[in-house]
Amino acid sequence: MSRVYNFSAGPAVLPEEVLKSAADEMLDYNGTGMSVMEMSHRSKAFEEIIETAEADLRELMNIPDNYKVLFLQGGASQQFAMIPMNLMKNKVADYIVTGQWAKKAYQEAAKYGKVNKIASSEDRTFSYIPDCSDLPISEDADYVYICENNTIYGTKYKELPNTKGKTLVADVSSCFLSEPIDVTKYGIVYGGVQKNIGPAGMVIVIIREDLITEDVLPGTPTMLTYKTHADAKSLYNTPPAYGIYICGKVFKWLKNLGGLEKMKEINEAKAKILYDYLDQSSLFKGTVVAKDRSLMNVPFVTGDKELDAKFVAEAKAAGFENLKGHRTVGGMRASIYNAMPTEGVKALVEFMKKFEEENL
Ligand SMILES: *Cc1c(COP(=O)(O)O)cnc(C)c1O
Repeated sequence: MSRVYNFSAGPAVLPEEVLKSAADEMLDYNGTGMSVMEMSHRSKAFEEIIETAEADLRELMNIPDNYKVLFLQGGASQQFAMIPMNLMKNKVADYIVTGQWAKKAYQEAAKYGKVNKIASSEDRTFSYIPDCSDLPISEDADYVYICENNTIYGTKYKELPNTKGKTLVADVSSCFLSEPIDVTKYGIVYGGVQKNIGPAGMVIVIIREDLITEDVLPGTPTMLTYKTHADAKSLYNTPPAYGIYICGKVFKWLKNLGGLEKMKEINEAKAKILYDYLDQSSLFKGTVVAKDRSLMNVPFVTGDKELDAKFVAEAKAAGFENLKGHRTVGGMRASIYNAMPTEGVKALVEFMKKFEEENL
């Protein structure tokens, strides 16, 4: 068996320790004689898995008691509809469009009410985060929506927008648990888990209790009503049980590592290795305005499409997988999530130096 350095944007690398532990428990979880995949979601064993996962997540993120944690299905994209269906009391919402994922959320919300694009960075291929200190927030907006880390373009909000008192809703799929956040600043923080935490198909929604009501848009399905899942503690129907179990292991891994402050330190040092190299390279260039750079997704180019393709192919042959940029941007992208070891980034930079020498 040999593992590659996997720079995929998602589904993405998970801690080896977590995968090994799951493998060890595959046939017999904790003396139950069955896999977590095979057990009832109403069983004592699973009850403990989901309760421990929630408690560990609450501890890691310092989630206040007036927020619910929901483990749901449908990935992050399901939330693009679920958010307006549940939150649009006035049928008005403000969206800041900083990439494809924010744009998709904006387009979906437009099915349910009046959505205002109050800022965008599309004019320069989403390579920066717009100034959000004094935006034209709508008086009757039910919420203000952002995508906090833009997976495809490699930008990240370093400061949250001034929402002028309106509820902030944030998609944190690709920066989930990469650093501490102040949950009280948000009405909803949510993310698909396949970037930084677990298997695809599952989304974690952290939602302030006053936003969980029966007063949803007419026709909202039971399954897409937050209250359904909040009341049933994410066990209204069969939850993504195996996903929750893996997420729980990743939460333990993060706690053992020293929590999110420590994770942030590691992520900053790790990203710096790559950015420092890019900043002095004569061949490779980062594509993002320096102050808005993501710690998780690092897009870069040579400026020559053929050379980009050559790099991706040679990198793959050398054991660096999934470095091709998103189809809408081209070039390269190294996603260096929590579970990407620092050695992986160091090895990539060494490989890039060699490629630079050979191709300049
Ligand atoms: C990957 C991603 C999504 C989509 O997630 P799915 O689980 O595939 O729906 C949404 N938002 C962001 C920021 C992402 O990175």
